[in-house]
Amino acid sequence: MSALKINNLYRYFGDLQAVNGVTFEVPHGSVCGFVGANGAGKTTTMRILATLDYPTLGSAEVCGINVVHHPAEVRKLIGWMPDHFGNYEHMTVLEYLDFYARALGYKGKERRQRIQEVMDFTDLVPLAERFSNKLSKGMTQRLGLGRALLHDPQVLIMDEPAAGLDPKARVELKHLIRVLATEGKTIFISSHILSELGEMCDSLLFINNGRIVHHGDSEALRRGSDTLGGVLYDVQVDGKPDSVSDWCVLQPNVEFLEARKQGGRIRIDTEDPTKAADVLARMIKDGLRITEFHREQRNLEDAFIDIIGRLDSGKPAIPPPLPSGTSNIELPTSNIE
Ligand code: ATP
Repeated sequence: MSALKINNLYRYFGDLQAVNGVTFEVPHGSVCGFVGANGAGKTTTMRILATLDYPTLGSAEVCGINVVHHPAEVRKLIGWMPDHFGNYEHMTVLEYLDFYARALGYKGKERRQRIQEVMDFTDLVPLAERFSNKLSKGMTQRLGLGRALLHDPQVLIMDEPAAGLDPKARVELKHLIRVLATEGKTIFISSHILSELGEMCDSLLFINNGRIVHHGDSEALRRGSDTLGGVLYDVQVDGKPDSVSDWCVLQPNVEFLEARKQGGRIRIDTEDPTKAADVLARMIKDGLRITEFHREQRNLEDAFIDIIGRLDSGKPAIPPPLPSGTSNIELPTSNIE
């Protein structure tokens, strides 16, 4: 059973299709990055998972529990860190955490223990007496994370936690997320900063105009093919620099793209790695003295733009008809926060 399972999820706001047939699963104990442009549908999807909004159509489950039908159960399993949250004037960090720990039902020694644990983990001990509305952005995010962790949830849903953080605070946050992942928590995290997500996520989920356009690991994305479907290699030789371009002219499946100091960039027209090995073997057999032959890595931003570009050139998916009215789900009215 997956930690998160979303099946054919739709959320319409009037005519606006914010989430448009989203299906994905996130395995237990993994970190999944949720990436998309402004307005792509990330927050809406996350709010539904966090039981703060309802789908128009489709289902969402946390650890096998339906978020619409059993929101109270789901809330015990998740820690939710929204992109913005209020911290109260004249309430210290300690009082703030104490307030939420009480709201969660913790009493006496257990409450003090939980607060101490999250303060230690998020390095908030030195800030215990600081007013919560007088914290820097990085400290505020740590407080938000501490609050989300108070009930030791299995799943953490974080909406843009790194937004507005300076590089040091981002590194600290990344470290905390990695520690939580090694403890076996499932983390679903949205961000615009793709390079960072790539480092800390086991998988990346790209959303565009309310639709999932890619779900895979970041390494595969970095290794991915170029827009023409081929794979780029950097080739360097000991000897005549244009020997690479001269050699490519005679090869049907290899294109010389650009000269570099001692060789150049080439494109091999297939992603099959055995073909790259064949090309390298042929080069050596034909007398090229290869000093370097490596596959170019794309950065994640390029991969994202590439995927969106391919999509824009194809036909848009057609939204399914909705029943008249707005929703196929009978919604309880009392649990929206
Ligand atoms: P950002 O990165 O800017 O936070 P996002 O990917 O999180 O963007 P959402 O906040 O999910 O995007 O918004 C998706 C679309 O739904 C947007 O066009 C937004 O304006 C719209 N939307 C979100 N919430 C509502 C609402 N309550 N009423 C009407 N439209 C909404």
